[in-house]
Amino acid sequence: MIIIQLKPKKEESLKRFHPWVFSGAIQKIEGKPAEGDLVEVLDNQRNFLAIGHYQIGSIAVRVVSFDKLDVDDSFWSRKIQLAYAMRVSLGLVDPKKNNTYRLVHGEGDSLPGLIVDVYDETAVMQAHSVGMHETREILAKAIVENVPQVKHVYYKSATTLPFNAPITPEDGYLIGEETPSLSAIENGLEFHVDWLRGQKTGFFVDQRENRSLLERYSKGKSVLNMFCYTGGFSVYALRGGAEVVHSVDSSTKAIALTDKNVELNYPNDSRHKSFDEDAFKYLNNLHTFEQKYDLIILDPPAFAKHREALRNALKGYKRLNAKAFEQIKPGGIVFTFSCSQVVSKEQFRLAVFSAAAESKRNVRILHQLSQPADHPINIYHPEGEYLKGLVLWVE
Ligand code: SAH
Repeated sequence: MIIIQLKPKKEESLKRFHPWVFSGAIQKIEGKPAEGDLVEVLDNQRNFLAIGHYQIGSIAVRVVSFDKLDVDDSFWSRKIQLAYAMRVSLGLVDPKKNNTYRLVHGEGDSLPGLIVDVYDETAVMQAHSVGMHETREILAKAIVENVPQVKHVYYKSATTLPFNAPITPEDGYLIGEETPSLSAIENGLEFHVDWLRGQKTGFFVDQRENRSLLERYSKGKSVLNMFCYTGGFSVYALRGGAEVVHSVDSSTKAIALTDKNVELNYPNDSRHKSFDEDAFKYLNNLHTFEQKYDLIILDPPAFAKHREALRNALKGYKRLNAKAFEQIKPGGIVFTFSCSQVVSKEQFRLAVFSAAAESKRNVRILHQLSQPADHPINIYHPEGEYLKGLVLWVE
């Protein structure tokens, strides 16, 4: 195996089990690793630290093991087994009530660069590193062998792998085939998930618990689900007994998907309407009291994907939240989220705080939300906390 020796004192973070080696920490590389190769990382005194996948870029190694052992098929199989056992133990695996969950959440499951979401009999796998891309066949086999429900593994990495990597990934089934009718069930609700054409792996599994909380507050309310995508929050609001549910998204496809999912659970339900429109435009056009809502969900796409975009992203969050505070009825509730990894919990809170002050409404924090247990945060890698939410009471 190729050896990477670190500069003096650069082993500290690895000793605290942080799973990345930055290129600036490297003193020498013995041999010529190709991107994706397994490498052994040593400290300056040549003591073993970790084994990981080599990458080109500022993160040079993503650690897969802090123990010196063989990274063979059974190594990957054990990792998948552990990830699955945790989901079972958390009560997330229930073919009748909940067959939709995240099986592998990158660093959170000590598998940096790998995401796997399970929808009934299909696992959708996404590689974010060349190392995981090259391990895809072994991983797919390990998934089918260790997760009893899964019979098909779809690989979807054409857009997630580093764009300059010397590979041409193709999306497709590694094991099994397209299933004719799929029913992804989340907390007893059914969803049509289109991993071939949809965003990410086809569904935002990470909002499951937050949708449940919304359901609890929906009874008798008029609900606006902004940035609805698959209509997840809308369907939960309908089950919670909302009087009116309006879903808004600027993508025609998302609106079609929302309508389909509402229809699947609540056929011909006149309480629901969807609007193919821009969020800001929609919020600006609520003029009369009757047009306003008791409950507004703001779950926009990541406003900042890179650090450089941070300032504008924070402005965007402020502007959006200010609009919601302006438009919500007295005694209303706002569920507001940010899924941008580069926006910290404090920064997001500050943006929402500024929006509240600007709207001159009296706002209280009822809940502070995060990602669910199947999106665990590696305690040594706090960067893994990406989903932030606030539930606010607007007097
Ligand atoms: N709340 C969803 C996930 C939202 S993903 C869920 O629970 O699954 C973000 C969505 O925002 C996408 O569907 C995208 O089409 C939509 N979107 C992006 N920009 C928008 C805009 N300016 N106005 C309305 N919708 C927008």
